[in-house]
Amino acid sequence: MISSPQAMGNDAFRATLDLTLDAVFFFDAASLRFIYVNQGALDQTGYTRQQLLGLHPYDIKPDYPEAGFRKFIEPLQSGELDCLRFETRYRTRAGKDIPVEIFLQYVAPGGETPRFVAISHDITPRQQAKDALMLALDQLSASEQRQMELLQLAQSEQDRMAALLSAMRFGILFTDQDGLVEYVNPAFRTMWTIGANVNLIGHPCREALHHSPLRFAGPEHASRYILDITDKHAIDETLELELQDGRTLTQQSYPVGKPSGRIIGRLWIFEDITQERQTAAQLAYLAEHDALTGLYNRHRFQEHLDRMISNARRSGAVFALLYFDLDKFKPVNDRFGHRAGDTVLVSVGTAISRLVRSGEMLARLGGDEFAILSELSTEEEAVRLAERIADAIADIPFQFNDTRLHLTSSIGIALFPRDGEDADELVAHADAAMYQAKQHGRDAWSIYHSG
Ligand code: GH3
Ligand code: MG
Repeated sequence: MISSPQAMGNDAFRATLDLTLDAVFFFDAASLRFIYVNQGALDQTGYTRQQLLGLHPYDIKPDYPEAGFRKFIEPLQSGELDCLRFETRYRTRAGKDIPVEIFLQYVAPGGETPRFVAISHDITPRQQAKDALMLALDQLSASEQRQMELLQLAQSEQDRMAALLSAMRFGILFTDQDGLVEYVNPAFRTMWTIGANVNLIGHPCREALHHSPLRFAGPEHASRYILDITDKHAIDETLELELQDGRTLTQQSYPVGKPSGRIIGRLWIFEDITQERQTAAQLAYLAEHDALTGLYNRHRFQEHLDRMISNARRSGAVFALLYFDLDKFKPVNDRFGHRAGDTVLVSVGTAISRLVRSGEMLARLGGDEFAILSELSTEEEAVRLAERIADAIADIPFQFNDTRLHLTSSIGIALFPRDGEDADELVAHADAAMYQAKQHGRDAWSIYHSG
């Protein structure tokens, strides 16, 4: 129970109350005007005593306007409540709000005017501590949220990476810095025929292929360098691995580093290039072969001729060029159709191929025109070859519908270097000789003669 100033002697009472750091306010129960304030109240609100004594609680409490305040304190006046303890804020004279905890009581000592006594404690430090705590809690929750987001981000990144690695046709293997397998993708297992049930993770990568039933085409071949980094094997080198099953794989290896530059492992990439190799081989074949007969084409013939000329120039060797063209081939097309004509061309190609020996090259130059390059040294040898060609063609029996027929050919012979010093001249002269044979009634051979 709070005593009144009168009961204690005013001065002593005031002096005592001024010593407390808390603010003490008395205000009249009817007018609600402050009738006593201690030093703490002046310190807390920033008003002078004079000023405060002209004010009411609701003048310094922005949260409690008069009507609301009167309603709020009613239970004390009616005796319904002994005291009220609540938190609110004061607006100081300077306009600053300070949080306070208030203990409010109604006192009506006998013979004295009823009044309210309010003891107000500045809870700024407590509020600050609470605010700091709330802020820390907010920050913690924000950081947790961020961490969660990062985790989700990392997870989706990982999911995307896993999807990518699984969809890849490249075989992928990651090792840690100790050379132990950390990851292999499905393509790696398929490529090396290693079942999904074989555990490779955590095992030395050199041993990974021990689980593969596949064998290398050449035992010496590259297998030493597979999944191994040696001094001899440059890291960025692409290693080709020929397998016994006919496939060709490539192996590449890259160090895996952190942005700081620290190496944390190694990435191995395997690619099945069999298809590319086959396509490249097919293209190379098509580039130098005639599609109908499978013989070398004019392009390849020209290359071979150039090579033979430069070799012969160096070694002083002699060689022969035989040009031959079917006689009256066009009527076959006209009478029996283009496909019949094709059959003739293929049969001629096959028959002459059988005559070709090492050091000789047969090509179809186009239409019904063929050529042979032969490392012969004398005219007689060339003539014998021409006769063999003529006989071989003449011997082929053709039958179209009910018609049996035999074809003949006209052959022109030119010798290098006697009949031409370069490719163009030699070809022109072999062609001229062939034309000569045609002129002589076909089914003949002719050697080029100048003039
Ligand atoms: P010659 O006795 O003077 O050599 O006369 P030819 O009837 O044999 O006719 P020539 O050599 O002048 O012409 C060759 C013909 O071959 C012309 C063309 O219609 C035909 N020809 C060219 N390429 C092909 C082909 O790939 N298939 C077929 N079926 N015919 C072709
Ligand atoms: Mg012809």
